[in-house]
Amino acid sequence: MAASALYYSDKFVLAKDSFDTTRKAGWIADSLASHPISNIRVLPPRALTEAQALRAHSPAYLATLRTGEPRETATASQLDWDAGVLTMALHVCGGMMDAGIAALKDGVAGTLASGFHHAKRDRGAGFCTLNGLAIAAHALAEQTGGHILILDLDAHCGGGTHSLIQAHPRLWQLDVSVSAFDDYQPGARCLKEFVSDARQYLRTVWRGLQMVEAEWPEFALCLYNAGMDVHGDCKIGGLGGIDELLITLREEMAFQWCKERGIPVAYAMAGGYTGGRMTRKRLVDLHRLTLSAATSKSDGPPVIAVNPESKTGWSSTAELTGSFAEAKECS
Ligand SMILES: [Zn+2]
Repeated sequence: MAASALYYSDKFVLAKDSFDTTRKAGWIADSLASHPISNIRVLPPRALTEAQALRAHSPAYLATLRTGEPRETATASQLDWDAGVLTMALHVCGGMMDAGIAALKDGVAGTLASGFHHAKRDRGAGFCTLNGLAIAAHALAEQTGGHILILDLDAHCGGGTHSLIQAHPRLWQLDVSVSAFDDYQPGARCLKEFVSDARQYLRTVWRGLQMVEAEWPEFALCLYNAGMDVHGDCKIGGLGGIDELLITLREEMAFQWCKERGIPVAYAMAGGYTGGRMTRKRLVDLHRLTLSAATSKSDGPPVIAVNPESKTGWSSTAELTGSFAEAKECS
């Protein structure tokens, strides 16, 4: 069984401002070095060129990231600016792009990069500098000639991504959030759901995926923004009641949904922040859930048994999701 590609470069952690978004890729890479996950091959991505970044961003914004001026725009991401920030952002976005390309070939690939979905054409926001999801979606829609689905399960709304893909007729977004940060009015080709009760979380993700399958076209690729900041112990975004088990089930659902429909999937780490009860180890272990679910779906039989009588082969996972939610409601 071929190992799936996972892109990481020490350029991901080049920025001087030390914060989860600029450091955790390194923490996860270190964790993989000491405790490997089978069937993952860590590879360095190619950096994006500035010309590629212009698919989603303005020349003026790239100049700002290069020079640090005006300072207000250069730090709109809430991260300090330094001379390494543009290089970091181009490598981080390169990780998303190369994961997309590898997924088209191998079915599943990922990147340890994060910090995409709040970045807009002219500025960063919410710890996001350049929007690697939008850039990769535009480039790979052109490369494949097909439709691209962005599945955004980060705690926060993906308003930056929406602003950058809404005009493209083959770019779609399913966005399930638990925090209203970066909220937006969804246009065509976008389903945005908001969850305020943890007991409804998996059900809402599942209903969104069902709607995507029923109403939207076939997809050439899914870009999955697998945020861990939904966890109840994450102070930036978390929703009380969402725990490791719910997130494990979410990751199984996301990857199995793609696999059963033959949709290649490229994943990124997205949100997840240390502080309080969310120690660095817990956060790394949460992100490892995505890697484990992705690799268990890269080949071989599904982890969750499917019902051979079912047309989609998916009903048992739906039942599992439903029974789990009901169990929590009763508890
Ligand atoms: Zn977030």
